[in-house]
Amino acid sequence: MNALLVDEATVWSWLAEVPDPEIPVISVVDLGIVRGVAVQGGDAVTVTITPTYSGCPAMQVIESAVREALHRRGVEHVHVATRLSPAWTTDWMSESGKAKLTGYGIAPPAQTVQLHGSLAAAVARRASLAPTVACPHCGSTHTEMTSQFGSTPCKALYRCLACREPFDYFKCH
Ligand SMILES: [Zn+2]
Repeated sequence: MNALLVDEATVWSWLAEVPDPEIPVISVVDLGIVRGVAVQGGDAVTVTITPTYSGCPAMQVIESAVREALHRRGVEHVHVATRLSPAWTTDWMSESGKAKLTGYGIAPPAQTVQLHGSLAAAVARRASLAPTVACPHCGSTHTEMTSQFGSTPCKALYRCLACREPFDYFKCH
């Protein structure tokens, strides 16, 4: 068999179809955990991944999903490298990824809000305990955290006080 000639852009497009095992509507690329793709000699690919947090149980699933996606396209040698530093932050998540999260009923990581004066101090004190999160169902920010841990350790459980729907919040790191 002739050596498969693959370029990095193509590998990125394949990875963009690999779903996150915890939130299947977003891909590992949307999530921002794929930090690098390197092609060696056309048929060997190294994919560098930074886990969302150390000890994330989904990482092994992600690793084998990445491997499988590339093997399926004929890449013989797939190396998945893990890079722990710099640590993943929710800023690495793509805008389309955040939009897909909301569509899926999960509040995306809260943006940093610019506030001034004593109100800002009061809000900051509250935010250090639990960030103000908009309800993915109705958009209300009248929400409260009901549990530090949602369906997975990466998420917290919230409840909307406006529409009364519970929802997952993808925690900032
Ligand atoms: Zn709501």
